[in-house]
Amino acid sequence: MKKHFRNFLPGTAAYVIAHAEYSLSRRRNPSIPFRTEKNPIKALALAQAVFGGSSWKVSLVDTSHPVDYSKAEIPPTYKCGQCGAKRVKLWREYQTFLNHQTLRCAHCAAINQKKDISKIDANGMRPSRGGKTDQIGWYIPAVPTEENDSYWGYTSVPQNGCEWWRKLPTLPERVVIYTTQCVKNLHTGKSFTFEVPQQTIEYFEMQKGLVETGQAPMLGSVEKLTTIYEFSFFPAYKELLKIWTSNGFTTELIVQILADFGVTQPFIYKLLEDDKFISDVQPWFEGITCDGERASRTLKVVYDTVKSYFSPTGKSEWEFFTNFP
Ligand SMILES: [Zn+2]
Repeated sequence: MKKHFRNFLPGTAAYVIAHAEYSLSRRRNPSIPFRTEKNPIKALALAQAVFGGSSWKVSLVDTSHPVDYSKAEIPPTYKCGQCGAKRVKLWREYQTFLNHQTLRCAHCAAINQKKDISKIDANGMRPSRGGKTDQIGWYIPAVPTEENDSYWGYTSVPQNGCEWWRKLPTLPERVVIYTTQCVKNLHTGKSFTFEVPQQTIEYFEMQKGLVETGQAPMLGSVEKLTTIYEFSFFPAYKELLKIWTSNGFTTELIVQILADFGVTQPFIYKLLEDDKFISDVQPWFEGITCDGERASRTLKVVYDTVKSYFSPTGKSEWEFFTNFP
């Protein structure tokens, strides 16, 4: 590539962008400031924003979500650009500047680079001709800076950054599609389907086997066990787990739960105005935290309470919705 940037006046956005493109062609990162922005990566972003021709299609950095290496926090920008996998180790192209990069999970990097990762370990290392390596072809570990404004060069990653990366799962979790048997959509009466980690389902099947053969009476009946699991697959379950020992009942949370169960909006509003419904479910929203079974049970109470609004007259749910005053 020619030194195209020489066609532009130094200090202009066009100059900064053209200079960055030239640097890229030489396998170098952008290196010049723009206006008051000294950080070259941010300077380029600013120049592109000013120029209007931003090519930052997928942002790989987000300074509003800095990374604390001591915590298992993962910024929202840290996801596989190919399959969308999150909460997993990612790799990035070696010596390619940020603007042209795609973060990839091990699977996607392996496909892209035609490399075998069948023996990759928990530290993200795999055997190669030159010994164990954390590289997948031209892909190197993607470790964001603590400011989350860039990614560390291969040899410059600080120790705590390495540890942060190593602690992430190496491969995306295998998920299976689970169709509910006990919990049904309160509006349509149909089963729900969820993407559930395969491990969770294996554990559930194992427990179910124990109950069926009478080896684990403390787990209750198969039906009870199944409903506990099924309620734990709803998005609202994660919200319930956040409740500390105080009263965790909020309108937002109950709206989410009802919506999760398929309750339609007009009926959600009716329920919110119904003092009996509120007083029936409210006590179940206290001190749920870290207790998955309790959270499941709270969802079950809401579910059963809403259902009781349908059943007394034996009317079908659909009829009830359409006839609700
Ligand atoms: Zn992927």
